[in-house]
Amino acid sequence: MESEKIVINKERCKACEICICFCPEHLLELSGEINGKGYHPVMISDQSKCTGCGICALVCPDLVMTVYKTC
Ligand code: SF4
Ligand code: SF4
Repeated sequence: MESEKIVINKERCKACEICICFCPEHLLELSGEINGKGYHPVMISDQSKCTGCGICALVCPDLVMTVYKTC
């Protein structure tokens, strides 16, 4: 069974929210944590709903997201 997931490098995130605007599934939001830069990094609300489309990784200017697809 194929599954998709994203890995978020929280320390690189500057909370610009671009990925939040572009995720077609509306799965991304700012977390309550604070990273080393002083920002609330992005988190994914439900990995199981991620389609692995890769849009978040494409639009992020800071290369925070890595998208994996496994079979
Ligand atoms: S890979 Fe696509 S569906 Fe999954 S979080 Fe990123 S933009 Fe949303
Ligand atoms: S686009 Fe990148 S830097 Fe901006 S909020 Fe999303 S993960 Fe963070």
